[in-house]
Amino acid sequence: MNTLINGAVELPFVNTLLKSQNIAVMLMDSSMEMVDYSPGLKTLFRLENDDLQLRNLLKVCQHKIIKKAGSGETECASSRKITLEDGSVIFVKIKIIGLIKDNSFNGAVVFLEDETEHIDKHVLLEMKLNEQFDLMRKLYLESPVGIFIINSENARILHANPTICSMLGYTESEIRSRTAYDITHPEDQGTHIGFYQESLNNQMNIFQFRKRYLKKDGSPFWAHISVSIIKDKYGSPLYDVATIQEITEVVEAQKKVEAQDQQLSTKNRELEKYIDSNAQLQNFAYIASHDMKAPLRMIGSFTQLLNHRLSKHFGEREQEYMDYILNGVRDMSQLIDSLLDYAKIKKEDHKMEAFNLHLATEAVLRNLSKVAEDKGAEIQIEELPVEILGNKTQIIQLFQNLIANGLKFQEEGNTPKVKVLSEDHNTHWLFKVIDNGIGIPKEHHEQIFELFNRLNAKTTYEGSGIGLAYCKRVVDLHSGKIWVESELGNGTTFFFTIKK
Ligand code: ADP
Repeated sequence: MNTLINGAVELPFVNTLLKSQNIAVMLMDSSMEMVDYSPGLKTLFRLENDDLQLRNLLKVCQHKIIKKAGSGETECASSRKITLEDGSVIFVKIKIIGLIKDNSFNGAVVFLEDETEHIDKHVLLEMKLNEQFDLMRKLYLESPVGIFIINSENARILHANPTICSMLGYTESEIRSRTAYDITHPEDQGTHIGFYQESLNNQMNIFQFRKRYLKKDGSPFWAHISVSIIKDKYGSPLYDVATIQEITEVVEAQKKVEAQDQQLSTKNRELEKYIDSNAQLQNFAYIASHDMKAPLRMIGSFTQLLNHRLSKHFGEREQEYMDYILNGVRDMSQLIDSLLDYAKIKKEDHKMEAFNLHLATEAVLRNLSKVAEDKGAEIQIEELPVEILGNKTQIIQLFQNLIANGLKFQEEGNTPKVKVLSEDHNTHWLFKVIDNGIGIPKEHHEQIFELFNRLNAKTTYEGSGIGLAYCKRVVDLHSGKIWVESELGNGTTFFFTIKK
């Protein structure tokens, strides 16, 4: 049985009130859950019969009751503004009377009364202003962007919200003793002043820019800043409100991209130069070799004629000289042919066709059969693709150059063994040409693909230094890559890819 409270409320009386149509009253238990309410409560809140909505609305009153009850007060009254479901606003006077049982809190009776009509305009205005002030304050304190409020006259920082303080590593009182320029990176002071002046000159009240602040530990902090200038009624600036977002990561990333861009365009320029000089070299090689062929052929034929006619009058020394000339002419003619072959591989003449690679390499074996036989060599060609897309003549020559090198670059007395195999890599074919020859030291793995680059004396291994440059050019034109793996004395494997 509940006791009397202040001698005023008795539970049977409350039970009667709970049935009332025009008195809004509710009964709360000791844990502040609403246990019952009068029909008048629903009338007050303009509800049909939605219990849940009612409970939600009343949540606003509950915390007040709990607070009062906690402090031992048994009676309290206050006014609250409540927004109803339909958006309309009512002012409710709330009177709470605590129920005490055995000297402890046992619930409460809450009376609610609509006092909207009695609220005067000034009170309403004050409530509205307070609400707006609370909202602004909440925004200022909890905003994820940093906020400075600055005295326009001397740039002194008047307020700094917690976000900007933690961004820069200062406490608010430390920051308040400084000006906006004190915490700006020395190189960016001019930027700030420049933007400020420009916006004043152009009568703009808002401007945005980027600059670096200096954190308390001295490290730079890139920020995107939006400044809004608050002016008095004569148009003189009073305060600058600056919102600050950190963009250090963005700026760093941008710098990296710019540096990479620069590197890329330098590389591009180098590549263009290389392509240009390569094209020039090719043109030169073509013209020179083409124009050299005719006089060389003439030298060759007349020397042979002279040899034929005069050899019977030659002594041993004269015949030796004549042989030097004839061998020289033969070597030069071979060099010119290779140069011409290299010079002829031009992008514009690069005709592609589908062909059976396995059959094509039979031509290679035929071309190399004499050399292979002389050296007692073994050439093993494993299953190759039955269809490949490329320039048939160039690809045959590519295989021929690599296999020929495998036969050529061998220790005296070694039996040359060359193996060719392929792997299907979905987007491209990978080919390997493996030999058991003299090998190539690691430091020369790239330069051997350059024109006229040879590692061995001509007297030991014949050659012109054009073969691998030719191979590289062909592979490049087939959108592939060519490289070598080898060690001195341990054989060599050439790898190259051809796009499918
Ligand atoms: P060439 O064979 O006419 O000398 P290449 O352009 O074919 O020219 O090769 C360039 C150089 O690379 C050769 O002179 C040689 O020193 C080295 N080389 C090429 N292929 C091999 C190989 N299979 N084994 C060892 N060295 C090689």
